Amino acid sequence: TPAEPLLEVRDLKVSYGPIQAVHGVDLEVRRGEIVALIGANGAGKSSTLLALSGARRASSGTISFEHTRIEHWPAHRIAATGIALVPEGRRVFPRMTVWENLAMGSYARAGDGSDQDLERMFDLFPILKARLTQPGGSLSGGEQQMLAMARALMSRPTLLMLDEPSMGLAPQIVDRIFEIIENVNAAGTSVLLVEQNAEKSLAIADRAYVIEGGRIRLSGAGSFLLDHPDVQAAYLGA
Ligand code: ATP
Repeated sequence: TPAEPLLEVRDLKVSYGPIQAVHGVDLEVRRGEIVALIGANGAGKSSTLLALSGARRASSGTISFEHTRIEHWPAHRIAATGIALVPEGRRVFPRMTVWENLAMGSYARAGDGSDQDLERMFDLFPILKARLTQPGGSLSGGEQQMLAMARALMSRPTLLMLDEPSMGLAPQIVDRIFEIIENVNAAGTSVLLVEQNAEKSLAIADRAYVIEGGRIRLSGAGSFLLDHPDVQAAYLGA
């Protein structure tokens, strides 16, 4: 049987004053999936995620999560219902320790920051255990990405949304981040992944969408899009 829809987005529009960034996006994440949203700079990926997280109000369209309409909910309520966003640029709290950053994450969803949650994070991100008392700002870029992901996961989200987790990281670290995303998904968290790295994200995605100029141009299985001539020409340098 086909997996149950978890997130359903219909005709989503997002504007900044007179500038329309998202022109009517339809997309869906089913329970258990990794779904990738790929596209160039300025295509509307971040604006879509901001609207889904409640950080920016959609100008129109509907967002349903677990069959409940959430497009008018404030961000804290969306977080509390089980949608976590790791924003572009990670945004760890630089002066707080790694431990304090993780503790902040557990507040998003009536989490208790339990030792069990912490142990789960150390299993996924062993490096964070060694860095617990260091300020977040002292970590490397890759470590900060891991901390931002771990902080989001402390709230035990049903859906983890990641905005360009590979940005600015060395290739080896990028590989590690993508492995972790697969591990997180295998442990039961659905994932919506926004990326400019089309090749790697399509390789791990069950399904994917290509966004151009604020509109979805193509969608399908990750493997289908990896082999698609238009995707190869525009995003894979073929
Ligand atoms: P990037 O990878 O550069 O973040 P993106 O695909 O995430 O690209 P968005 O950041 O969503 O794209 O931007 C979509 C469009 O909206 C772009 O034309 C951008 O210039 C515009 N835009 C984004 N943020 C703002 C803002 N705060 N004010 C005005 N226009 C904005």
